[in-house]
Amino acid sequence: MVRPDAASALEDPKVLSALPRYVDVVKNRRIAKFLISRMVPADYSDNPSTEELWMVHEKALASEAELEESLDRGKVKIGDLHPPTRSLLHLKHLLGRRILESCVLCERRCMKNRLRGELGYCRIGEEMKVSSYFEHMGEEPEVVPSFTVYDPRIRT
Ligand code: SF4
Repeated sequence: MVRPDAASALEDPKVLSALPRYVDVVKNRRIAKFLISRMVPADYSDNPSTEELWMVHEKALASEAELEESLDRGKVKIGDLHPPTRSLLHLKHLLGRRILESCVLCERRCMKNRLRGELGYCRIGEEMKVSSYFEHMGEEPEVVPSFTVYDPRIRT
């Protein structure tokens, strides 16, 4: 085994205390948040303003919390749910694109319109170029293996 410390990390009391949900998801005891958000309806209009999207997002987060609790308690099974056409996960994608119109995704806060090809400090436009991706074995033990993606243009 390349990282034997990774195998035991999920039993470490400090990891269990700091990342309880993460440990349960890795051990298939709880459902990952992105799967839950895919099951939460988000009732936004066909041509929504950003303000509307944020308002619907707020409500959908409350619904997500309720569903998460029901799933955690075993009152509902994820396999019994049907994904809505417009979900909280779709809504998050939409909001992410709105943010790209005046990008403040990181502390640089360049305010560039990445959807129109403007480049900020990171020089990443609408889509990432990927130079490599792989399972990375060099992170902290509790997150080994990690799926790592490198963009050739990222400057640190
Ligand atoms: S550096 Fe990139 S991600 Fe950060 S705010 Fe600027 S354009 Fe957005």
